[in-house]
Amino acid sequence: MTRKFDALVLGAGAAGLLCAIEAGKRSRRVAVLELADRIGKKILISGGGRCNFTNIHCQPENFICANEHFAKSALARYTPADFIALVEKHRIPYHEKTLGQLFCDRSAQDIIDLLELECRAAGVQIFLQSQIQEVQRATEFVVRTEFGEFRAPALVVATGGLSIPKMGATLFGYELARKFGLHIVKTKPALVPFVLAGKDRSRYCDLAGISAEVVAKANHHAFREKMLITHRGLSGPAILQISSYWENGQPIQIDLAPDREIAPAICAAKVRNIAAAQKVFQGILPKRFAERWLESNAPTAWTNEALAKWEQQVHEWLIKPAHTEGYEKAEVTAGGVDTNELSSKSMETKKVPGLFFIGEVVDVTGQLGGFNFQWAWASGAATGRAL
Ligand SMILES: Cc1cc2nc3c(=O)[nH]c(=O)nc-3n(C[C@H](O)[C@H](O)[C@H](O)COP(=O)(O)OP(=O)(O)OC[C@H]3O[C@@H](n4cnc5c(N)ncnc54)[C@H](O)[C@@H]3O)c2cc1C
Repeated sequence: MTRKFDALVLGAGAAGLLCAIEAGKRSRRVAVLELADRIGKKILISGGGRCNFTNIHCQPENFICANEHFAKSALARYTPADFIALVEKHRIPYHEKTLGQLFCDRSAQDIIDLLELECRAAGVQIFLQSQIQEVQRATEFVVRTEFGEFRAPALVVATGGLSIPKMGATLFGYELARKFGLHIVKTKPALVPFVLAGKDRSRYCDLAGISAEVVAKANHHAFREKMLITHRGLSGPAILQISSYWENGQPIQIDLAPDREIAPAICAAKVRNIAAAQKVFQGILPKRFAERWLESNAPTAWTNEALAKWEQQVHEWLIKPAHTEGYEKAEVTAGGVDTNELSSKSMETKKVPGLFFIGEVVDVTGQLGGFNFQWAWASGAATGRAL
């Protein structure tokens, strides 16, 4: 059986669904083919089950891409306000948690329901459990599944990244891009915890659960947020953020006392000793972590000069992760379809007219805080309006 549409969207995640809605609203006949048995599975687990669906401070600077200008056009044409309007239209209660991050009050299911209702209103047809067997391009695109053949002049690839393989993440989008001769920017896990090894592991990991506000730095980027010690290494927002900029083998630099000068308090103490050093961390670092850190990072001497050096060490603590927790724990995949292959206005590939890539499969990666969904909505809208 052959079904004919104006556009086929592969993947019923955030980007694919928004794209289908925008195209459907413009009276395009759209089919969404989804491998899983339900739509928006990743949306459901996002933001701890409450979906951090956008960020009101969204700027192009919040994204990593080999071409820093690429995302600007799509982000400007579909803004957080556009998605918030949709959320409010569906009377979904939401709140700002911190730093402009908007979350559902109830559950991420609200966002899935919104997308499903909008798809229905726009006449979008969704085909679940569609195992794609073959994609061909003749005069139009032909997608074969075990349920039959789908044909359309436009094909949109919205199959997401490689993170959380047990939720069904596949290489499909990248392989399809390669099949059509498109370049892929090397992929890597991003927004991902670090694993410590050797002495660092034995020194800190039994403190799992302890957190502190720090500034984490790597490759000229810095994030002031919480760092969390885990059973295997380091996590927490500051660490997840910096992981996206970290290169294998590099140390990260951590400021353990942001905006605080602590050596003068030791200089002023009656007795300059390790107890005085521990005391100055009060209210800055959890006691157990401060004690542990000092065991291997004590001042080399108690002179003013040595303490000044030590002050620097507190603000520039270098620690070298062994590796990351990988795609199993990564929130997103950095890298992907090279944006040089795409129109920044429509996401259409320059080499293959009618073929589009949107969402996480593209080499645009948001920072933590709702930016990845905003990219999914914005890139989805850019294509949906171009179909
Ligand atoms: C635990 C976790 C929490 C997160 N929380 C947030 C958050 O709060 N805020 C935020 O902005 N971002 C968050 N993210 C990132 C965000 O979920 C993704 O960036 C976003 O979902 C990407 O959207 P997408 O549509 O490109 O891909 P996806 O949402 O991954 O959708 C891709 C779809 O394609 C389907 N698919 C895959 N292969 C095939 C195939 N061969 N055939 C047919 N269908 C296929 C998949 O089943 C899936 O439904 C989180 C990610 C994770 C893992």
